[in-house]
Amino acid sequence: MKIHEYQAKQLFAESGIPVPPGEIATTPVEAFEIAERFNQPVMVKAQVHVGGRGKAGGVKYAENAEAAKVLATNILGMDIKGLTVKKVLVTPAEDIISESYVGIILDRATKRPVIMVSPAGGVDIEEVAAKTPEKIFKLAVDPIMGLQAWQARDLAFKLYRDIGQVRKAADILLKLYKVFWKVDASLVEINPLITNAAADVIAIDGKINIDDNALYRQKNIEAMRDLDAEIPAEVEAREADLSYVKLDGTIGCMVNGAGLAMATMDLVKRYGGDPANFLDIGGSSNPNKVVTALRIITSDPNVRSILINIFGGITRCDDVANGIVTAFKEFQPRVPVVVRLTGTNEKEAARILKSIDLPSEDTLDLVVKKAIELAETTVA
Ligand code: GDP
Ligand code: MG
Repeated sequence: MKIHEYQAKQLFAESGIPVPPGEIATTPVEAFEIAERFNQPVMVKAQVHVGGRGKAGGVKYAENAEAAKVLATNILGMDIKGLTVKKVLVTPAEDIISESYVGIILDRATKRPVIMVSPAGGVDIEEVAAKTPEKIFKLAVDPIMGLQAWQARDLAFKLYRDIGQVRKAADILLKLYKVFWKVDASLVEINPLITNAAADVIAIDGKINIDDNALYRQKNIEAMRDLDAEIPAEVEAREADLSYVKLDGTIGCMVNGAGLAMATMDLVKRYGGDPANFLDIGGSSNPNKVVTALRIITSDPNVRSILINIFGGITRCDDVANGIVTAFKEFQPRVPVVVRLTGTNEKEAARILKSIDLPSEDTLDLVVKKAIELAETTVA
């Protein structure tokens, strides 16, 4: 689960990490009023769940309240990487002297929280990582020992020379690690962590992703969920208890079981196609889930063909086939569908699918190739 910058900063502030004050506006007039209260130049910042807002024009400097109102008018409603801006954060503008990067991710390779810091922070951090990786310093933290003060200091020395700033940054790193741990984050990030003329070290951006599997014990975080800011298909999928991740390809995939879904996507890639999504309908074979899954896949405008790959064990193929037939009756999928249903009750399933003239192929290779072929010839 993702939260907004302003919510991440709230969590930072509660943990003692210095952040500028700020308030949320959903209308230009509110932005005006907030800026007026601050009575100094402000930043107007789009609150959407993606990075790179600055480059997309979603982070702007306003000299006064009137300017903040104009900027809020432009930014509210703006589309940033497919998400519509519905809220802006209005926050006093800082005089920036330097921009650093600090982040913590849960790293699969080391199976530990890994802290990354770079003195070359800011909007081009991806380029820094790609072209000058030596400017990024990493430390894998022992999860039992936690981050030690000397380790934090060591990392802080990579960012600053001034001992006062090193101390401040080390303190921020220790606090950030605590936040990471406390909220079951998969990622926490401050980019940029800035210094100003007064030699303060301040977090002016914040990002926190939470491990969904921990939400049952993170009620305060769960309460921060902003349904308005999430991709509608992902919200619908979650409510229907489907595991769905939207991707950028053209082949919609509906599969039962996460492992089979991954294998199916691998095969699509291998034969030169690109999956439009990961979708696991789970172990049960509730026909309603199948209908919802097909609706979600069809609603993605990039999808050119749909590949259904079901291995019936506990899942019964005839149930899935009934779901497909119901879906076809409720809404005609606008792209071709290919199916492989194999396992429990597959013969029955084949009979059911005949009623909508949808043959079930025997092998996975065949359906994957067919889905790719159809995706290439189907027009939007
Ligand atoms: P992102 O592009 O989504 O990461 O949004 P950020 O909050 O990181 O803002 C992008 C960039 O805008 C920062 O790297 C800064 O260079 C600039 N910026 C953000 N806030 C301020 C501010 O208060 N003052 C100044 N001068 N620049 C800012
Ligand atoms: Mg940033």
